[in-house]
Amino acid sequence: MEDPWVEHRLKMVETQIISRGITDERVIAAMKKVPRHLFVPAEMVDYAYNDEPVPIGEGQTISQPYIVAYMTEALHLQPEDKVLEIGTGSGYQTAILAELVKEVYTVEIIASLSLRAQEVLGKLGYRNIYFKIGDGTFGWEENSPYEAIMVTAAPARIPEQLEKQLKPGGRLIIPVGSAFQDLYLVTRERDGFKRKKLLPVRFVPLITTH
Ligand code: SAH
Repeated sequence: MEDPWVEHRLKMVETQIISRGITDERVIAAMKKVPRHLFVPAEMVDYAYNDEPVPIGEGQTISQPYIVAYMTEALHLQPEDKVLEIGTGSGYQTAILAELVKEVYTVEIIASLSLRAQEVLGKLGYRNIYFKIGDGTFGWEENSPYEAIMVTAAPARIPEQLEKQLKPGGRLIIPVGSAFQDLYLVTRERDGFKRKKLLPVRFVPLITTH
């Protein structure tokens, strides 16, 4: 059956993603494919393809499409990569990652959000996603190291434990700050970590239980 939302999705990719400079063909293909409207609450479905974050309940939001594409592209993901995501939320970003890499490990602190994301992603047929409910501030060590880590909630500073779970050459993308936040790309190099500030952003705060 033809997905009535295809047109909205392709327009979103054209006007919000490609026209703003995203060029990675694999990222563009994933954004064209993943049905974003299935990841928002039923009453928000008309906003799913808009150029903005959308509330998903529990005071949380699904990130703006452009930010999802930008953060994903910045990680330079390869098909064999193992990726850690902190902040499953709706599971939309998780699906984009799962389209691009071999395995995605995703941690969410709010159980109801994780369970809903598990249901949606299961129905869509993803079999390469591993879920954990808990505080992701310190990553998910058992499955480390990772080629890439993406954090979609903002801590006050970059958690050292996350950097440590990167493979040599691995990349971490993370918003940092409180009222004012910046997106950082951390690269693990032979002799330490290179931290590059990319752009100002606005994410929900990373909840810390420790
Ligand atoms: N990537 C998500 C964005 C959700 S917003 C999406 O596309 O929908 C950020 C998410 O991070 C929220 O669901 C919030 O509950 C979660 N979060 C906040 N602090 C966390 C923590 N310490 N560990 C794991 N998840 C956390």
